[in-house]
Amino acid sequence: MQTAVKPSLLEAEAVRAFLTAAGEKPYRLSQIDQAVYRDLVLEVDEITTLPTALREDLARHFVLSPMTLKKDALSSDGTNKFLFETTDEYLVESVLMRHKGDRLTLCISSQVGCPVKCSFCATGTMGYSRNLTTAEIVGQVLHVNRKLALTGERVRNIVFMGMGEPLINYDHVMDAVAILKDQKKFGIGARHITISTSGIVPRIKDLMERDPQVNLAVSLHAPNDALRTKIMPINNAYPLASLMDMLKLYTDTTNKRIFYEYIMLGGVNDSPLLAHELGTLLRGHLAHVNLIPYNPGAGWPDMKASSRNRIMEFQRIVQGYDVPCTIRYTFGQDIDAACGQLAVKEGKNAVAAEKQQKFQRVQKPVS
Ligand code: SAH
Ligand code: SF4
Repeated sequence: MQTAVKPSLLEAEAVRAFLTAAGEKPYRLSQIDQAVYRDLVLEVDEITTLPTALREDLARHFVLSPMTLKKDALSSDGTNKFLFETTDEYLVESVLMRHKGDRLTLCISSQVGCPVKCSFCATGTMGYSRNLTTAEIVGQVLHVNRKLALTGERVRNIVFMGMGEPLINYDHVMDAVAILKDQKKFGIGARHITISTSGIVPRIKDLMERDPQVNLAVSLHAPNDALRTKIMPINNAYPLASLMDMLKLYTDTTNKRIFYEYIMLGGVNDSPLLAHELGTLLRGHLAHVNLIPYNPGAGWPDMKASSRNRIMEFQRIVQGYDVPCTIRYTFGQDIDAACGQLAVKEGKNAVAAEKQQKFQRVQKPVS
């Protein structure tokens, strides 16, 4: 017989409903939040500020975290990759990066796999299993904060650049953002949170209206429809002109600079001609281009990284259009923790990965 999965204490609405039904005072919720987010307790029955009977009752109905930490790998550059298992046995990863000056940034996942399936991305090859819940999204941060507490540190910046397309899981991601920002919970300012999207146009509008302070990063990767569709099938659904119109409205409304991510694929999207086309496309926009060296092994078999010289030449040309353009430092490549390298195809994840591989075998690689 299957045992029912208990809800998590991170699900505020479920906890509130439980407390109300049990005739408890509303301040019990604040006590629980303090224990969970400030004192970082590991189990429900460690919340000693609650009366014993309530604690036992809560422990019968709730788990504290919706996932368990299965593995923690450390890269030679200090990057950590964490592997989590959900209560229904899916596996997802998060990556902790240490920038210069020890600024800690956690890259979190929003889905198990990804339905968008960009040609260069390892997560796409996992297939897609399901959206993560709000509790599973913030649970990643909670686990990492518990680890960091041992050295008196905590996560200061969040990027939604792990597994999955965050704007396809819009509701859960936005609820997670609210918890991350909550002063009584994680207290991470909106300016320290970045959502990266492959360009889900209607959800960008929703994001702009709901939380204009959160940073927006857009995975552009090509300056025209023909090439973008070839390497990112999502461009069929939301072509470049509709995306750029939306992004213009976004900057006009929010006055915030958008980060454009551009992966450097040798011989595919890295020519000087395309650099000029990108410069022309973004000239006059509130934009910052991040050139991302392709992390090999993730995409189609014939894909390779651009040479350093090619990347620097591309950068110079884009800057010539008065568009700020930087080359992104690659973290954690030796433990497969870099951009686009997150993929777990073991355990329950294997079902979707196998389906995806069968599908890919009948598709022609990008040439
Ligand atoms: N789904 C979202 C966020 C996760 S991907 C998005 O696509 O924006 C995070 C970033 O890593 C994106 O810019 C993505 O295009 C990039 N990326 C994917 N595969 C990569 C690879 N093999 N090498 C370098 N960057 C990659
Ligand atoms: Fe999904 Fe982003 Fe990877 Fe594309 S790059 S497959 S949208 S995770």
